[in-house]
Amino acid sequence: MVDVERHKVDVVVIGAGGAGLRAVIEARQRGFSVAVVCKSLFGKAHTVMAEGGCAAAMGNANPRDSWQVHFQDTMRGGKFLNNWRMAELHAREAPDRVWELETYGALFDRTPDGRISQRNFGGHTYPRLAHVGDRTGLELIRTMQQKIVSLQQEDHAEHGDYEARVRVFAECTITELLKDDEGRIAGAFGYWRETGRFVLFDAPAVVIATGGIGKSWKVTSNSWEYTGDGHALALRAGATLINMEFVQFHPTGMIWPPSVKGILVTEGVRGDGGVLKNSEGERFMFSYIPPVFKGQYAETEEEADRWYEDQENNRRTPDLLPRDEVARAINSEVKDGRGTPHGGVFLDIASRMPADEIMRRLPSMHHQFKELADVDITAEAMEVGPTCHYVMGGIEVDPDTAAAAVPGLFAAGECSGGMHGSNRLGGNSLSDLLVFGRRAGLGAADYVQSLTSRPIVGDADIDAAARAALSPFDPADTDRAENPYTLHTDLQQVMQDLVGIIRRADEIERALRELDTLRTRIRNVAVEGHRQFNPGWHLALDLRNMLLVCECVARAALQRTESRGGHTRDDHPSMDPEWRRTLLACRLDGGDPFVPDVTVTAERQQPMRPDLLELFDIDELGKYYTDEELADHPGRRG
Ligand code: FAD
Repeated sequence: MVDVERHKVDVVVIGAGGAGLRAVIEARQRGFSVAVVCKSLFGKAHTVMAEGGCAAAMGNANPRDSWQVHFQDTMRGGKFLNNWRMAELHAREAPDRVWELETYGALFDRTPDGRISQRNFGGHTYPRLAHVGDRTGLELIRTMQQKIVSLQQEDHAEHGDYEARVRVFAECTITELLKDDEGRIAGAFGYWRETGRFVLFDAPAVVIATGGIGKSWKVTSNSWEYTGDGHALALRAGATLINMEFVQFHPTGMIWPPSVKGILVTEGVRGDGGVLKNSEGERFMFSYIPPVFKGQYAETEEEADRWYEDQENNRRTPDLLPRDEVARAINSEVKDGRGTPHGGVFLDIASRMPADEIMRRLPSMHHQFKELADVDITAEAMEVGPTCHYVMGGIEVDPDTAAAAVPGLFAAGECSGGMHGSNRLGGNSLSDLLVFGRRAGLGAADYVQSLTSRPIVGDADIDAAARAALSPFDPADTDRAENPYTLHTDLQQVMQDLVGIIRRADEIERALRELDTLRTRIRNVAVEGHRQFNPGWHLALDLRNMLLVCECVARAALQRTESRGGHTRDDHPSMDPEWRRTLLACRLDGGDPFVPDVTVTAERQQPMRPDLLELFDIDELGKYYTDEELADHPGRRG
């Protein structure tokens, strides 16, 4: 058998972002031993990059806010395709999760009377984002790490070993999940990035918290780690992915200079008063309020500006429409020739508030533009355009326990699907991580407790995982050796050009043909050298996941013949109520074990519980639902 370092624990958490760390805390607090594994350094995850804040209906900035309004906003943002139970749990539990962070030592910004301050964000009716300047994710991660250290200190006091129940495996990549003969999770296999040595975690429960998939697009706010590993690991283990056609393009990424294209410009800039303008100086968002949101947004600049001061008597600015709407509007302005010199639009905060106020509220944005683009945002407008940012699709889970279809497998955070429907509202990710990270930790702990026998990893499965990991050193056809970097660039180009922000059947079909070619080419990916820190090898393994996940996105995008949230079909521009109650579920269907075939099945959504449905006005629901679905709504019954 292959040489492998082994660790035996109760729960393995793959990913040390917000979802992973919150799961670790919960499983450890229930008394179980946990290994937390992350590809990068501990503390470096997407969560740390989150700027704007964490959405929770605490009602500090406006006492009218409540979990019900947060729930309604989330469903509206997702165009009613969300898993309503997840949206309900999220809205109900987010305030407690924010308070809990303060008990761990977090310090959010304050209102003048000492309560946690909350800021405006797109699609949220009231100011709702608890924040720490524009560095909220950093505080979230810092405090959860601090909590983990305090738990390790307790373990040291009890067992004489800091790592008795929580051990961190940083710069370690998981490449395969292993199951026992009964199809239960039995462990996770991976390698140390520095030495290339293999590692095996013998564990009956695995929580996947690996974040997003954005590194498969050319213009992206995501960093190198976001290659859809968790999505692919779950799929290969037998789980289902849902909603994969919904990819969020954040409206405001940097567009100039080319080296920084895609880096995020937080929505907090617009939340705090910044406005979008085209090359003619027009605040164009007033022309893009879609019929489903008519009446809910200001129709004049005067009303929009008054709203920042008086939200009771004015409607919010359309600059803060949900992200999918703003991204499409920017796309149209640029296409119609009203873009900036570098192909974006202007985001102006300089003319809207004093320089010292901008510096106080948005210090990271000021630093980012000054350092990377030599632009002083207190004096001039920023140039911005859409960037691939977030995937709404992910591992299908039970809302209450975060359990996936495979016994022993749990998922939380960006890699899970359902919560955000077709489009996520800003700020709803950080709250999602806390709510469902905790639930995944609990779900895994309950599962381990319920077991009467511990699953055992088979030696043959370990050997197979090692063989797959080593295959780039031994490509199928050396005469046609492929460079992993070239393959990655080609994949990004295909997804950017053909499965991007605006889609069409003929283009997606072309993308699928290109993906097929890449599938052949990936068998010949060849890497030089040995296993010690070898980035080419790491990328070759990531590519396998990216390709599988991109295939899910493209196949689901082709099948959904409507436009909704993060899926816009030029050839099917309207929303179709029949599609609202349809989920597209991706599963594996044999083929080459290295990159297996994907099937996409249309499945019915669970109807929303009547008391939740009745929170919405019948006129609003009529824009999304079929008549048959609304027959029992009190607004219809009269
Ligand atoms: P992540 O924080 O992405 O962590 C994933 C972890 O998985 C990492 O530790 C990674 O190393 C690990 N990993 C991945 N693959 C493997 C593997 N194979 N083996 C081992 N480990 C692996 N959301 C908000 O709500 N508010 C905001 O203000 C906000 N701002 C954002 C700003 C930026 C620039 C970006 C990029 C995103 C922002 N988001 C925001 C979105 C939000 O930050 C992410 O959706 C969220 O942090 C994802 O958290 P996660 O815990 O699911 O995963």
